[in-house]
Amino acid sequence: SDHRLDYPQEPSCMEWQKLYPHYFDETTGTMSKNVEIADIGCGYGGLLIQLATAFPEKLSLGMEIRVQVTQYVEDRIIALREQNKDAEQYQNVAVLRGNAMKFTPNFFFKGQLSKMFFCFPDPHFKQRKHKARIITSTLLSEYAYVLREGGIIYTITDVEDLHKWMAKHLEEHPLFERKSVEWEKNDKCVQLMMNSTEEGQKVERNKGSKYVACFERLPTPEDC
Ligand code: SAM
Repeated sequence: SDHRLDYPQEPSCMEWQKLYPHYFDETTGTMSKNVEIADIGCGYGGLLIQLATAFPEKLSLGMEIRVQVTQYVEDRIIALREQNKDAEQYQNVAVLRGNAMKFTPNFFFKGQLSKMFFCFPDPHFKQRKHKARIITSTLLSEYAYVLREGGIIYTITDVEDLHKWMAKHLEEHPLFERKSVEWEKNDKCVQLMMNSTEEGQKVERNKGSKYVACFERLPTPEDC
């Protein structure tokens, strides 16, 4: 349960320097970069760690609801930062414990993110549990708010029914448009999310299928 989780009142209340101390300018008291990439329900952090080196100029954030899993990822990042001290790597990734289904706009400014990943989200198979899924029409409007125009939502799952659900809700949303299979083939993040998450590797070992759907955040119409 998340009833004891704290949420920032608004994005400006976030103390990002605690997560990314390297990017904090002591003299101005401000961050030199903002988080741009979010891995929602990051689990054990396989993708997040890959994002650190794939996008060395960008800050990536994992959001995870389970306490112990978040702690595991945090320890993993601390160790990687220590091992790569000289190259100053992994300073650009961090993990935050939180319920991504609540108050996303409290964490991020409008249009702050360029990529959001939803990798192997919990399927919530039963019909009456579908409302607990991390992609719903209401939540998509929140994700659209924090994503910039041209930003991408990446989804991947081994559950065909969930894949269809996510693609349907994204397709029906006026602010998202599906990317082509050709685009997916040429996008380096699709390759990363296919192979680097712990859940994805488990599916690979079990020779399961992986269903991908990627959507671009469209410009908000003038009269909105
Ligand atoms: N993305 C990872 C991967 O591919 O290996 C983990 C997949 S795992 C099946 C789903 C993860 O989402 C779990 O670690 C779970 O704790 C997390 N999760 C579920 N609901 C969440 C929520 N509302 N906010 C943040 N994380 C959530």
